[in-house]
Amino acid sequence: MKSYRLLLFDRDGTLTYENRDYHRELMALKAYPFTGSLLRDLHQAGHQLAVVTNQSGVARGYWSLKDVEAVHQRFCREWGVDPIFYVCPHHPGDGCPCRKPQPGLIRQAMAHHRSGPEATLMVGDSPADFGAAQSAGVAFALVLTGRGRLTRAHLPQPPEMVLDSIADLRAYVV
Ligand SMILES: [Zn+2]
Repeated sequence: MKSYRLLLFDRDGTLTYENRDYHRELMALKAYPFTGSLLRDLHQAGHQLAVVTNQSGVARGYWSLKDVEAVHQRFCREWGVDPIFYVCPHHPGDGCPCRKPQPGLIRQAMAHHRSGPEATLMVGDSPADFGAAQSAGVAFALVLTGRGRLTRAHLPQPPEMVLDSIADLRAYVV
C-alpha cells in the first residue's frame, strides 16, 4: 500500500452514499461519516488523493457541471482536504474516452500527479471502476459499500483488494 502513492477514489457508493434520487437530490448528497478523517490521514501519510467520477446527470440535463463542482467544493471544505475531482459529464451513448470503464479519467489523474500505473490504486464499488482500473493498468480495491457486494459477484477476476469500506484503508496509513 505504501507503494501506491496516488489513490484514486470513485465518488458515489465509495466516498459518499449512493444517491438514488440523484436528479433531485444532488445538493443533499452525503459523504460517509468516516470519509473526511480517513482522507486527511491518508494525505498526512503522504498519499496523493483524487476522485474520478462519472456524472452523466450533466449530459442528461439534470444539473450543470457548476452544480457538480459546488457539491465537490462543499466536500473539500467538510473533509479538510483538497483532492482534484476528475469528472466525466458525458452521456453513456457519447462514446467519450473518459467515462468509466474507459481509462481516460485515471490517465488524466496519473499524468497530472506524474504517477505511473504501478504507483496508483483505484478504489471503487462498480464494475465500471474495475474496468477502468484494468484498462489503465492500475491495481483495484473493491469496497463493499454502495454497489460493491453486487459488483463482487460479477467481476471477471478477483480484485487486488476487497475492503468492507474505505475505512479499511486506515490499516495502510503508517
Ligand atoms: Zn466522458
